[in-house]
Amino acid sequence: MKILAVNCGSSSLKFQMYEMPEENVLISGVFERIGIENSFYTIKINGEKIKKDVILNNHEDAVRILVDELLERKIVDSLDEIKGIGHRVVQGADKFDKSVLVDDSVLKTIDELSSLAPLHNPAALIGINAFKEFVPNASHVVVFDTAFHQTMAKETYLYALPYELYEKYGIRKYGAHGTSHKYVTEFMNNYYKENKKLIVCHIGSGASITAVKDGKVVDTSMGFTPNAGVIMGTRTGDIDASIIPYLIKNLDYSADDIDKLINKESGFKGITGGISDSRDIEDGIKAGNEKCEIAQKMFVRSIVNYIAKYYVLLNGVDAICFTAGIGENSILTRQNIMDSLSCLGVTIDNDANSNRGKFIKVSGDDSKIDCFVVPTDEEVMIARDTFEIVK
Ligand code: AMP
Repeated sequence: MKILAVNCGSSSLKFQMYEMPEENVLISGVFERIGIENSFYTIKINGEKIKKDVILNNHEDAVRILVDELLERKIVDSLDEIKGIGHRVVQGADKFDKSVLVDDSVLKTIDELSSLAPLHNPAALIGINAFKEFVPNASHVVVFDTAFHQTMAKETYLYALPYELYEKYGIRKYGAHGTSHKYVTEFMNNYYKENKKLIVCHIGSGASITAVKDGKVVDTSMGFTPNAGVIMGTRTGDIDASIIPYLIKNLDYSADDIDKLINKESGFKGITGGISDSRDIEDGIKAGNEKCEIAQKMFVRSIVNYIAKYYVLLNGVDAICFTAGIGENSILTRQNIMDSLSCLGVTIDNDANSNRGKFIKVSGDDSKIDCFVVPTDEEVMIARDTFEIVK
């Protein structure tokens, strides 16, 4: 059965077409700079990568080109062969604890939740509507990034704010990156052939740490929005909330200024004065840049603090897993984190840790906690959920 996994951002559309249940990838690609000048798309097919410059005024243009490519390249003879299209949606709040088939009420709820994810939910809706128009006979499924975190206990997801802010306005912890955390959890429990106590470190330009027991989330570092938790490329992570009224009262910041400051101008970028990419941070450290050194130390400390907290919460842990861009590729960051965990009996296999982007155990044989690199695969999770619902 042919299933398309789709991830729409505000100016991008990523896709991956699978033959299910074999999980064979038939074609994948990304449309970039939608609605902006110099838009283009790349597709990967049979190991070949093709890039084309095109005008993409909106997501409909991208979907139109995508379906033409699928037909021209004979991935399908008719669009009716695409039985299911799975769409990633960032914010499902407490309305959805699993993936669901799209209907009008689901679309309405995603729209109502846009205030919690103003950049992401509206983009997903545009994508869903465009695909419904061009591929009307497929079943459409939405896969929520918050769903996997819905198992957190009330005492974990509530903030110590007046209770009515939670009841009336839904202000609570929702978490993020759930699709990735779920993939790594299922991968590891499959590997061990039993449910283990896991700490999953999804560390990329956005980063979140999740404590998992019995295949379920116990706690996660992101909060009401993906700003909370550990330090990120351009996001603050946890800060003292009173900094915000201070900035408003004393430095004339508006709500939009604050939003920009804490989400786009902080983290690595804020500390170093402009460097947000972890590869550049590592180059800076090699060149003796003091700010890069301090940024890396703060980043590692913020992650280790969560690991320590979750070690206690889970009453010990079997495995720590590193995933996403930095987790899969940054040898230095993994080494710094594991070094900081020596008091828990963590040791490093330096040869193994010199690898990038592949599944490998990076802790030593004598380590009290196993540490792994687990490349994440959010697209296959979207395809799996879609296939299960459609079949
Ligand atoms: P993501 O958001 O998951 O795509 O991850 C992006 C982050 O991964 C960026 O900060 C990149 O610098 C980082 N990254 C990718 N490759 C490497 C690498 N080889 N070494 C260090 N960081 C990397």
